[in-house]
Amino acid sequence: MPPRQSSYPDEPEDDDFDPEGPDPSEMDYSDEPDLAVCPHCRKMISEEAELCPHCGEYITPGDAPLSVTAWIVIGVIVVLLILLMIRMV
Ligand SMILES: [Zn+2]
Repeated sequence: MPPRQSSYPDEPEDDDFDPEGPDPSEMDYSDEPDLAVCPHCRKMISEEAELCPHCGEYITPGDAPLSVTAWIVIGVIVVLLILLMIRMV
């Protein structure tokens, strides 16, 4: 029986590697920012990136923290509060 010829004679990580599930060890990258998926080319990019380095498209998060409409509403409320304070003085 001839010895098994393999380009990878020993693959110690093969048994532990699960491509389906998230690897908990990859969640602890302290020097790496959070990763996001580019909505245009589906590649992994930095969550803080404004431009995708792969396809060059602008990254717009699915749910922005505050939309322009929200800022307008907040601005109106702040102005009303200021007017109220001026009247009370
Ligand atoms: Zn992209």
